[in-house]
Amino acid sequence: MQKTIEKIAGDTDGVSFEFAVYRIKGHTSGAPSAYLQAALHGGEMPGTVAIDALMPKLRAAEEEGRVLGDITIVPSANPIGRAQYLFGELQGRFNFGTRINFNRDFPLIDRPDAALLPHADALTRADQRLKARLVALSMGHDLVLDLHCDDEGVPYLYVPAELWPAMADCAAALGVEAVLTWHGYSDAAFEEASIHPYLASGADLADRVVTTVELRGIADVERGYAKEDAEGLYRLLVARGVIADPVVKPAPAFGGVAAPLANVEMVKTPKAGAVLYDVRPGHRVEEGARLATIVFAPGEEDGSLDILAPQSGYVLTRRSTRALRAGDDVLKLIGDRPAVAGRSGTLEE
Ligand SMILES: [Zn+2]
Repeated sequence: MQKTIEKIAGDTDGVSFEFAVYRIKGHTSGAPSAYLQAALHGGEMPGTVAIDALMPKLRAAEEEGRVLGDITIVPSANPIGRAQYLFGELQGRFNFGTRINFNRDFPLIDRPDAALLPHADALTRADQRLKARLVALSMGHDLVLDLHCDDEGVPYLYVPAELWPAMADCAAALGVEAVLTWHGYSDAAFEEASIHPYLASGADLADRVVTTVELRGIADVERGYAKEDAEGLYRLLVARGVIADPVVKPAPAFGGVAAPLANVEMVKTPKAGAVLYDVRPGHRVEEGARLATIVFAPGEEDGSLDILAPQSGYVLTRRSTRALRAGDDVLKLIGDRPAVAGRSGTLEE
């Protein structure tokens, strides 16, 4: 395993950022290659600890000559976001300087050729340089996995609609509960930047894997989950022929919920208040069922309101905070039919 350090110049004098890249060379030419990164949203650690738990398995595979295709790993992909603390709280989602989401505005190129990416010298901001570098590092790999997490949630995937259901085996290997498919424009998320060159050039999509993996909630950083997720990632690498391991059994077929992004109801609260949830991620609800109560005038009669399910479906995520503002999201529900205000590319800012 080779380790290199990437350097990203900062936006002011004396500031620069670094992150580590690990590479294992596969020994079989033509074998599928894989790129994994985690924590693009600075503080999302479930993927980072999953990679930490995966590394010993990769080192063992390398020592035993079982790594067939090249593997590139970036356990902590965003040193800029990782360093953004505001009054003691990590703010890893948006770039402080511009308020641009670290998982938007990636460069979209029309062929899978890193030479088409803008050169660092031509980019004015550090976050742009980081994004171009991450795309360059991932370019050319057959499998590209971007490990994130939600607020509170079940493990689930975003998958380009063009790769579904061909990637159902990946969902099964990872053991996720749900899959959201999207098509079109996603404000140039990393996932879109990874699939766009292939879609735009009309390349063969067979055997291509591109996904954003949401590893439960932001606080689900535990030894047991890390081990489970590492096993899922390893199972996927074996299933897709990046690693050989006769001991690993294929996962049972994916039996979770798969739906287009257009079916997701972003359920919001009309009033500010404390939220009392009736449901957890993974629950199935019927139309009209109470999802939560918002206590907006504590102590008063009629001081609370119920949030009801706009349609029958599957509770994918909910908020980790219990203090909401008017208009805030309460939860994501995968409806059985298209949502009233369904979207095609992204769900959140
Ligand atoms: Zn994220």
